[in-house]
Amino acid sequence: MTRTDVNEYGEFGLIEHLTRDFPLRQPSTLRGVGDDAAVVLNGPLATVVSTDMLVEGIHFDLAYTPLKHLGYKSVVVNLSDICAMNAIPRQITVSIALSNRFSVEALDELYDGIRTACRHYGVDLVGGDTTSSPRGLIISVTAIGAVEPDRLVYRSGARAGDLICITGDLGGAYLGLQLLEREKRIWQENPDVQPEFDNQQYIIGRQLKPEARTDMIEAFRKADLQPTAMIDISDGLASEIFHICKQSRVGALIEESGVPIHPDSQMQALHFKLDPITCALSGGEDYELLFTIDPKDVDKVKYLPDIYIAGEILDAKDGVKLNTKGGNLHELKAQGWKHF
Ligand code: ADP
Ligand code: MG
Repeated sequence: MTRTDVNEYGEFGLIEHLTRDFPLRQPSTLRGVGDDAAVVLNGPLATVVSTDMLVEGIHFDLAYTPLKHLGYKSVVVNLSDICAMNAIPRQITVSIALSNRFSVEALDELYDGIRTACRHYGVDLVGGDTTSSPRGLIISVTAIGAVEPDRLVYRSGARAGDLICITGDLGGAYLGLQLLEREKRIWQENPDVQPEFDNQQYIIGRQLKPEARTDMIEAFRKADLQPTAMIDISDGLASEIFHICKQSRVGALIEESGVPIHPDSQMQALHFKLDPITCALSGGEDYELLFTIDPKDVDKVKYLPDIYIAGEILDAKDGVKLNTKGGNLHELKAQGWKHF
């Protein structure tokens, strides 16, 4: 028997490996593994389902993450995957595994955050599971959404010539995390020092209280805009554009000057001696949307707020490239988070 380390596969390779021999047998399964959410035909509508698991010590650190924010965020990251299919989220289930370190009061805080998210996004909590863990907290949320089948948007629909669009701004959540990590280290060395978060509300908010862009899905409907491909930006722009390119069998050119970065993120990146574009490309957890549109729809996008055109889809043979502000062409590298 050989023993292969999971690190040899990486996150995406491991998923491909584990799910390789599961042919879809149900005609109602429109899409299985491989997109932001699965799609199941359900009468006149398509049901969209997505699950994400958050593990203490890997996805969150309770030293600086208030439980209420954790509850809110664990819902948002799942609603974001529903949005990435161009669907409207409607229900969630929440499963938790916890050690006896957590009191009822602590769990009430977690559920306060979950409740706030349910109210804000108009989704219903409809079930879940509760079990114990030897240590630490694990939260798994499943989100269910709905959309007319002809409005579904997959990662696989981008065509050469399509325009690449990004909502909101990128890199802020990563910089917020760097700041929180730094203050944690300082605090560990000297517990009397109070953290310094002056003027850092924006990036800390991006890390601790992200939002799912359900507003964009509604705006697309109102503008009668049908993106050709879409993915949510959970692992950084570089990783996500690679997913679209791989599944659409295309290449891409990203213009650095078109990638939206908030001034507070710019400032904090320079403060940490990081290149802001690197934070946008390789940072994670912004939960904005990356989507492509047919160029004939460019006017529909122009009049929508908070959407930025950041490049163009190319033929597969042209690869995935970044055109820097200085006019240099860089080959982008595919990368996901290494959790193992
Ligand atoms: P996202 O970052 O959008 O949440 P992931 O990279 O986690 O997406 O997952 C990619 C695809 O692989 C999704 O379709 C997801 O449902 C599927 N997937 C992930 N892990 C597993 C697993 N252990 N078994 C089956 N499918 C999985
Ligand atoms: Mg996703």
